[in-house]
Amino acid sequence: MSLDYEIRNNSLLWIKNPFTGVISYALDLRAKSFTYTLKKHFERKTEREVSELDAQLRQQAIEECPFCPGHEDRSPEEIMRVLPVEIPHWRGAGSTPNPKWVIRVFNNLFPRIPSELTGNKNESYLIVEDPRHFLDEARHPDDLLYSGALGEEHFFVVLRTAAHVIERALENPAIGSVVVRKNQGPESGASQPHIHQQVIGSPGLLPALEAEVRAQKHDPHVWEEIVELVDRLGLVIERREGLVSYLSPIGAFPQSYEVVMPKFYGLLSQLSPELMRHFALAVYRILAFLGPIPLDYEIHQGAGLPLHAHINVRLFPYSNVAGTLNIPHHIGEIAARVRRKVGLE
Ligand SMILES: [Zn+2]
Ligand SMILES: [Zn+2]
Repeated sequence: MSLDYEIRNNSLLWIKNPFTGVISYALDLRAKSFTYTLKKHFERKTEREVSELDAQLRQQAIEECPFCPGHEDRSPEEIMRVLPVEIPHWRGAGSTPNPKWVIRVFNNLFPRIPSELTGNKNESYLIVEDPRHFLDEARHPDDLLYSGALGEEHFFVVLRTAAHVIERALENPAIGSVVVRKNQGPESGASQPHIHQQVIGSPGLLPALEAEVRAQKHDPHVWEEIVELVDRLGLVIERREGLVSYLSPIGAFPQSYEVVMPKFYGLLSQLSPELMRHFALAVYRILAFLGPIPLDYEIHQGAGLPLHAHINVRLFPYSNVAGTLNIPHHIGEIAARVRRKVGLE
């Protein structure tokens, strides 16, 4: 037993993350003001009138965007693409005439890890997830297309494309580990507004995975204990054969979710198509619930870890104070709301 936490009056009071040592304290945050971040994202559309300038700004953003169709020559050489025919229910079909691609992959112009460390080869990849820069119903320049608006089948193909990129990166003998990373919104570190995801190959395990491997060596049942606890606290969103998703009390941000396959220790690219679809849909349902709010997600795999995804929501861009977080004491109610919203309850 390695989880440190305290439950009083049937609710969680605090819990220590077994991988990072960060302590989350559960507090009544219902009276806390969220105007600083949330208001900006959710009230803007109703508060502001749409102006002629908005249309101009949207057009200008498309003209400047290196990921928009017609600008393929502004990005490094293409590695792979997914054609519209491969995503039969692609939601952009009505608004995008004669699309040449739906998903494109190329190297990141700025590798996350210097190529000198990965056999003099750039092993950072960008997956442009859709040719559309804006939502079809966009009125303001901030109405960008986001992951939760792609549709289930499309998101599955995005992850399947990531799996192909993982295989490609691992062909390089200098690569020992690969992570998938998404930044949604500038508050989460996205530097391009056009919807995209990253795949990053590294020589060895990156520190976050190293910490997980270390904790797992210390307690081989750590993931099962987490799943048991979130179940007891009413935080499970979805559970199906081999997979569980939950609102995490030990995430990197106060509102974090995890999707874990507790008994699958392989890579995303080693999942059967059926299990990959289940994994993708479990992540997608959470992203669709969260909508356009700034967030990141990361898929961790390999090194004997169960395949899992962390989804961290930026209710506040920065939340950690001296190794502590505050989580809402009614997280069980939030999890129930998510289950209802995604139709699992
Ligand atoms: Zn664009
Ligand atoms: Zn992880």
